[in-house]
Amino acid sequence: MNSPINIYISPDTAFQNLIKHTLQTVFFNKGLQCLFTATRDDALLTVGYAEQNDLVISERFHQLLSQNIFSHTQQLTENGNIVNKFGNTDFISTISYLVNSFQEYYDNDPDQYGRFKYTNSLQHKLNSIENNTVQQIIDHLFISHPKLQGLTTMQRKSRVFLTHDIDSVYGSVKEDGRYSLDNMLPGQITRLIYNATIGTPDWLNMDKIMKVEDEFGFKSTFYWLLVKNKQNSDYDFHSPTITKVFNEVKSKGWECGIHKSLGDSSFTDEIKTYGSQPQGNRFHFLKFTLSGGYDLIEQHGLKLDTSLGFSPAFGLRNSFGQPFVPFNLKENRPYHFVEAPQMMMDRTFFNLNMPVGEAKKKLFDFVEKNKYNCVFTINWHNNFFTELKYKGYLQLYRDILTGFKEMGIEGITQSQIIDEYYKPMALAS
Ligand SMILES: [Zn+2]
Repeated sequence: MNSPINIYISPDTAFQNLIKHTLQTVFFNKGLQCLFTATRDDALLTVGYAEQNDLVISERFHQLLSQNIFSHTQQLTENGNIVNKFGNTDFISTISYLVNSFQEYYDNDPDQYGRFKYTNSLQHKLNSIENNTVQQIIDHLFISHPKLQGLTTMQRKSRVFLTHDIDSVYGSVKEDGRYSLDNMLPGQITRLIYNATIGTPDWLNMDKIMKVEDEFGFKSTFYWLLVKNKQNSDYDFHSPTITKVFNEVKSKGWECGIHKSLGDSSFTDEIKTYGSQPQGNRFHFLKFTLSGGYDLIEQHGLKLDTSLGFSPAFGLRNSFGQPFVPFNLKENRPYHFVEAPQMMMDRTFFNLNMPVGEAKKKLFDFVEKNKYNCVFTINWHNNFFTELKYKGYLQLYRDILTGFKEMGIEGITQSQIIDEYYKPMALAS
């Protein structure tokens, strides 16, 4: 391990903890550590508003933050950068802004579910949703900055985090049945009703999912809904059938977490129903806002959230390809959990009516371009493992796993992400 890089932040700079946290995120990305010094003389790098600093911070970015102005139209240039008063890109503030999704703070135009709209995002405006922009900025910084060029750095090989939201296990009769009716498959309807009646409905297929993953040497995480109603699940988490499957999943070494429901029920109630402290969460419908969603994750002792993805678009919602610890602006410290952004979801392609072959091409192009510095978080719902309404998606999942295997891309599990990326950084917290 290299010795830490000494950095001095000029005392007249605001938001010092945010700057420190961003620098720690950047240096961690390169396999380096940084240490903040009390005097300029001890430092390799100096940071501040004045032009003579090695990294010149935008004072305007800080002024707008203190006025609670977060929108990308006000904070960023047309090219998506934050620029300091000398007309140069302020890489550190640009990274702070992107990684922490500040564009979503104080959003006043949410969609019908209360979510930040993809169409209002910077990524939509710049057509950059598939770019690992933050990584590109970090790489650029280490290649071009005279003080950073000579450092020995590392990069992480990309890995894959496989996940499954379990929304429905009894829906097959209705959804696949409708499909069978529309497609003149009467024999299928009889079979679906028969399976549902004898207690092994088609979508209660966690054993099938684990078998497929096991063939390729991967393990995944299942996120369970704890509330049964029209908006949420169609299963009772405490029924003997689900309890049995849940225990099987865990005993085989696969992982679980909670899928926070829509509606009024609280995290406290759902964790009680879950029966033990879960490590991870994904919000059902990806319904959360910032910063409130992150506050809830932390307040309820979760160590990982994996909700940061846009439902209608595949790619990087915060323009960063790796799990990270977000910064809590209100309390001026890092949060106590890791966010592992959801990048690829079956339903995104399904809802866009995209042919499976096209989705496959899109996914593989993305993976090819990002063999380093990504954790590909994939959400494949259990109902997409059947061959009726969601025909083609099981094969696509197999193709993806085959592709990863061939490219030497290994799996990373929920608990491994927490171990590797949750570094309570050297900040007072
Ligand atoms: Zn869901």
